[in-house]
Amino acid sequence: MSILQTENKDTPPTSNEALLPKVKVVLVGTTHSGNIGSVARAMKTMGLIDLVLVDPQTEIDDKSNALASGARDVLANARIVGTLEEAVASCGLVVGSSARSRTLPWPMLEPRECGVKLISEVSTHPVAVVFGRENSGLTNEELQLCHYHVCIPANPEYSSLNLAMAVQTVCYEIRMAALSAVEPIVEEYPNIEKLEAYYSHLEQTLLDVDFIIKAHPGQVMTKLRRLFNRARPEEVELNILRGILTATQKRAGTKK
Ligand code: SAH
Repeated sequence: MSILQTENKDTPPTSNEALLPKVKVVLVGTTHSGNIGSVARAMKTMGLIDLVLVDPQTEIDDKSNALASGARDVLANARIVGTLEEAVASCGLVVGSSARSRTLPWPMLEPRECGVKLISEVSTHPVAVVFGRENSGLTNEELQLCHYHVCIPANPEYSSLNLAMAVQTVCYEIRMAALSAVEPIVEEYPNIEKLEAYYSHLEQTLLDVDFIIKAHPGQVMTKLRRLFNRARPEEVELNILRGILTATQKRAGTKK
């Protein structure tokens, strides 16, 4: 039963439509102003309104407003930040959207599963779905900040959708999940800021005990990130892991 359904036993089952405005859509390094407008329209038609622009390579201009049409309010309220890490710092779930499979495969979601996951978690902690640059997508570092990747299973011979159309497809699935009144989760997952602090602490500890060598770090940290992303430690579990690192550093004599 959804949280909205539990509010009043006399009302018929309702959807989670009210959760849609809470789902963040993040665009990284967008180069075409028209695309930003089309994204705003794609979002608003599906009930989403929270747009964050990371380091946009263009201004919001007349072309953006023309293509946004009735969704100019979404553009007007869009927030601009410098880095993806900043945009998703408070989020307990981040899904990165990518058309290409990467050298190091990450936990994947189908668009439908992505919609269900975002809606099931958005009432517990902030959630975001991230889209990349028109010409080069998201960098590996940006993709590694995400818990999951979502790939729209398009024509394998030409699978790269226009940015706004990719946003439309994913937002449609988020809306469908909301309308079908998905069960909310109860686990409190740490946000990206806390996870990143853990990864820095882990890396420093592994350097302190000479497990990784600064000049030749290899893929160890990327693989460990993937492992922890897969396990999705809860807040309390992450605190235990932080405690283990501090104890290790004390024994190694690198922390008093
Ligand atoms: N040429 C780029 C694709 C850019 S399309 C590349 O090779 O990565 C702009 C953005 O739209 C992508 O970064 C991604 O977020 C989204 N996108 C486009 N097609 C997609 C697909 N099939 N599945 C998931 N996301 C897609």
